[in-house]
Amino acid sequence: MTDRYQSFTSSPLGQMFVKNLGLPNPVKLDRYTPGAPLVDGTVVVGGSGRLVDVVTASLDNLGIATTAAAAEGEKYKGIVFDATGITTAEGLVAIQQFFTPLLRSLKACAHVVVLGTNPSQAESLEERIAQRALEGVTRSLGKEIGKGSTVNLVYVAPGAEATVESTLAFFLSPKSAYVSGQVARLGLTGTKKAAKVADQGRPLEGKVAIVTGASRGIGEQIARVLHRDGATVLGIDVPQAASELVTLMKELGGDQLTLDITGKDAPQRIAHHVKEKFGGVDIVVHNAGITRDRKLANMAEDRWSSVVAVNLVAPERITRELLDQGLINRNGRIIGVSSIAGIAGNVGQTNYAASKAGVIGFVDALAGELKNDITVNAVAPGFIITQMTAAVPFATREVGQRMNAMSQGGLPVDVAEAIAWFASPGSTAVNGNVVRVCGQMMLGA
Ligand code: NAD
Repeated sequence: MTDRYQSFTSSPLGQMFVKNLGLPNPVKLDRYTPGAPLVDGTVVVGGSGRLVDVVTASLDNLGIATTAAAAEGEKYKGIVFDATGITTAEGLVAIQQFFTPLLRSLKACAHVVVLGTNPSQAESLEERIAQRALEGVTRSLGKEIGKGSTVNLVYVAPGAEATVESTLAFFLSPKSAYVSGQVARLGLTGTKKAAKVADQGRPLEGKVAIVTGASRGIGEQIARVLHRDGATVLGIDVPQAASELVTLMKELGGDQLTLDITGKDAPQRIAHHVKEKFGGVDIVVHNAGITRDRKLANMAEDRWSSVVAVNLVAPERITRELLDQGLINRNGRIIGVSSIAGIAGNVGQTNYAASKAGVIGFVDALAGELKNDITVNAVAPGFIITQMTAAVPFATREVGQRMNAMSQGGLPVDVAEAIAWFASPGSTAVNGNVVRVCGQMMLGA
């Protein structure tokens, strides 16, 4: 499942073709290595507003070096720009004044974060308009920055300033290698607090995490990353995948349950297992998913219903059962896996896109309802290189892999890292978000 085009373009001959023909140039992305510093270099912190001081303190706490003034000839690994002080359209020029002289001083695979105030929480009409404009800047810079760098926007609700740490740790580090052009919102729904993370290397120590569809692909990586971060993983998969599941859970010192999540009594069986074995669960990741593609004109009812049953109805029923039985612990996390197809739509995928757009509806519907600092969020992967995408015909696969700002497909670990950010006990203010892990795909918004 290697990307042959990327291997070719990294050779001298390939680079010549890229330059002369203007072909996509996928850069090898930095990815996080356990034990390595979160950010391999210095981050420039600029702008003015209510977040500059808290950002500097948070980065210091994370062991990330910062500077307020970029030095001539130096190269930087990241930028945080506090735009919360921008209250008029004219004031947006502060972005040009700050970024233009700085952008050539970035290393490859750098990470840029713009911080703003949710437009709906702005104090004046002018501020609302100016803050909304930040989305345009972020998405455009994401498309033009190149060299494997990312640009994301985080709207921080007034009063939620102290919650930025876990989100900065994600967006400034290689954990967000394949996440760009995204808008995250902190403290908009639910709490504006954040629990302290005792050990940054193992933020999930003592936590129990359910991962459905854990035996392979993205689910396997989610299990591995949550385990790396300290969680005990209960992997769930269909009986046909039992041997892979058992092998993986043995390796991770986890626990397994083999069942079809669409089974009538599956929610009760999962709840019973959780209650007996662990007393409760902290993180529930609804990863299991299937496709049964056909154009709607040719769609049989069972193709439609089976996709909706696995991807949408099962997460709804399992979540409801766990909540009703009070089995999701305080500061718990419910995490859905949507898809770019649920946002942009896709030929032959009305059933799949319905289920994945439904996952976004699930997040919206639950976000305001949850108590006890429990949050709900979802990732929406773009083109992620797995067995699911290996089956995609060559031409479609090439388009899927190149039509994004990174000119390459993502890896399952990229989705897993975003999920680990949602799962962190420090992410209590991250609620009701859907974040795409798509290398800023050209499709959709
Ligand atoms: P995959 O097919 O490799 O793995 C899916 C897993 O879910 C398998 O282990 C499978 O056995 C399990 N599963 C399926 N039906 C189940 C059921 N009824 N009960 C229990 N387990 C069941 O797929 P993947 O590529 O790793 O995808 C994982 C998730 O990410 C899915 O929700 C998928 O829709 C989503 N996604 C994937 C991509 C991509 O590019 N690969 C893009 C967007 C979204």
